[in-house]
Amino acid sequence: MIIANELQAQIQHDRQAKGRIHSFESFGTVDGPGIRFVLFMQGCALRCQFCHNPDTWDTTTGKVMTVDEVIAEIEPFIPYYQASCGGVTFSGGEPSLQAPFLAALGRELKRRYQLHLAMDSSGFCEPSHLQSTGLLEVLDLILLDLKMIDEHKHMKLTTQSNQRILRMAEHVSKQGSKLWIRHVVIPDVTTDPADVDKLAAVISSLEAVERVELLPYHEMGKFKWQQLGLTYELEHIKPPSNEQLKGVQQQLQQQLDVPVNI
Ligand code: SF4
Repeated sequence: MIIANELQAQIQHDRQAKGRIHSFESFGTVDGPGIRFVLFMQGCALRCQFCHNPDTWDTTTGKVMTVDEVIAEIEPFIPYYQASCGGVTFSGGEPSLQAPFLAALGRELKRRYQLHLAMDSSGFCEPSHLQSTGLLEVLDLILLDLKMIDEHKHMKLTTQSNQRILRMAEHVSKQGSKLWIRHVVIPDVTTDPADVDKLAAVISSLEAVERVELLPYHEMGKFKWQQLGLTYELEHIKPPSNEQLKGVQQQLQQQLDVPVNI
């Protein structure tokens, strides 16, 4: 009886948890397996030069919604997610900034629908914080974006050190989380063979990596930087050619046992 009461209290607490939502997409097909509801969370501490969603950075904006309100947006499409072996992906911004809310949302989605849950993250989150929120326990998959292994270059590319990200990668790996590693290919910025070798070495050190996805840099978010009055530092960089993408793919594939996809 005491356990049943505690469970009811937890459910009530979870349903009323609030998060800041930037936007959502009902039929996502690139952020995890199957058809997915992609929830873009508001707020990010990084300032990646290639970011196509700089409007997600501000932690004080977005729409405040409860777990129940977010689930009401997901519910009409659940048959599509279940039939396609899809689910829900928490993205952003940086979703782990709102880990307690996502843990509550995840518990409720699992309890009601047993949906597959993924998180697309920069990894910029202290492992101890992530662990304390219970978020890892509800996630079936982490799409972990490793942007640059050289710390100095990472600072230049994102304005932050990558030490916390590498700690987080090691932590989730040791916890047994399934990982898809994502890496943005930016000509002359992330294509140096020495940097690609370092990336391969870090990926090799992680357990439970199922695949690597190479994402070609694109300029589609440039107009948002202009709208926000920000200087777009990669103005002079063009998207990678097929040859450049395949070059990075081959170099990684030669050093990794898991598939490296473009
Ligand atoms: S981590 Fe993602 S949302 Fe944050 S700045 Fe980088 S690309 Fe943009």
